[in-house]
Amino acid sequence: MSNLFPTYAKFPIEIVEGKGTVVKDANGKEYLDFTSGIAVCNLGHCNEAVLTAVQHQLTQIWHTSNLFESSIQEQVADKLTAGSKRAVFFCNSGAEANEAALKLAKKHTGCDEIITFQQSFHGRTIATMTATGQGKIHDGFGTLLPGFTYLPYNDLEALEQTISEQTAAVMLEVIQGEGGVIPATTEFLQGASALCAKYGALLIIDEVQTGMGRTGKRFAFEHAGIEPDIFTLAKGLGNGLPVGAMIGKAELAESFGPGVHGSTFGGNKIAMAAADVVIDHIFKEAFLAEVTEKGAYFQALLAEQLPGVVIRGKGLMFGIELETEAVEVVKSLQEAGVLTLTAGPNVLRILPPLTVTKTELEQVAEKLAVVLKKQEMGMKI
Ligand SMILES: *Cc1c(COP(=O)(O)O)cnc(C)c1O
Repeated sequence: MSNLFPTYAKFPIEIVEGKGTVVKDANGKEYLDFTSGIAVCNLGHCNEAVLTAVQHQLTQIWHTSNLFESSIQEQVADKLTAGSKRAVFFCNSGAEANEAALKLAKKHTGCDEIITFQQSFHGRTIATMTATGQGKIHDGFGTLLPGFTYLPYNDLEALEQTISEQTAAVMLEVIQGEGGVIPATTEFLQGASALCAKYGALLIIDEVQTGMGRTGKRFAFEHAGIEPDIFTLAKGLGNGLPVGAMIGKAELAESFGPGVHGSTFGGNKIAMAAADVVIDHIFKEAFLAEVTEKGAYFQALLAEQLPGVVIRGKGLMFGIELETEAVEVVKSLQEAGVLTLTAGPNVLRILPPLTVTKTELEQVAEKLAVVLKKQEMGMKI
């Protein structure tokens, strides 16, 4: 019997080794990991440059309190905010980054009302769970945080009718990840940004999954040419080391003074050493252009092998609409040596490392075509 709380329905596979896109389970079976551990290991497993930086930091010092200066935090913050006047708060996860964003919005505006969207996902703490627009995630937890309204995603009219001077923030994902890989339209993003400016509400963009190069830009909001007041990062920021960040416009800094918010482990030196290298690799035009190019290549391969397939996403973040239960396709692909994810009951979610090779994309497109064709013909997959 397991002594773990059964909060995750686990697959009976233990991954014990990884290098780049390839991982190996405890029985020695190899898989192409097209999950990156849910958009975490964007530079592949056991990336050499990250490993070297972390190993070096481990020999220097592991932890100092945030009551002391940290030049590595300053350096990572400087790189994350390059080209804009922004401030960074470091924490350890996506939920914590969003929690910090919500606290900052409430503190800065003095307002309580927060608008989020149906099918969104923002985390599992009480505040971020409340922000998450999914009834199944709220079920059984009694009274949630007051002040939240959930609007239909991509519905600018609904937002226009709801937003007011009492709105502290509008919080959204540029592509809803857990909710089914559903992209926001450019019109919706630009409209939401304009409405926030008009009513003095803060626009918070949750880039926990879409950030760090995943969509072919540093941050997915850059596709729409908008400037959120606050955005949040986590998953891909440390390539597997736990780190999150809340990044806000510089004028918000005065609302987050000493004693207002904090985290013991936030911005710890080991995680910072990893993030520093991750940013250097990902925030390069040539690297980001390759992500876009490889994403388009994979989409074209799938369109060729699976005519009529409905595939959504940007860069190397994909959702494939399925006729049947996505988890069955995930299991068949595992047998075929490919790891994938679901996003809701009928969407297969694919998040390869951004360092994936074209050969690996071809191998997976082929295996995916075999599994999905079998499924289409009503065969057991
Ligand atoms: C994963 C995720 C979170 C939560 O991150 P944790 O590190 O699990 O707390 C929040 N928002 C989005 C969009 C995510 O994908």
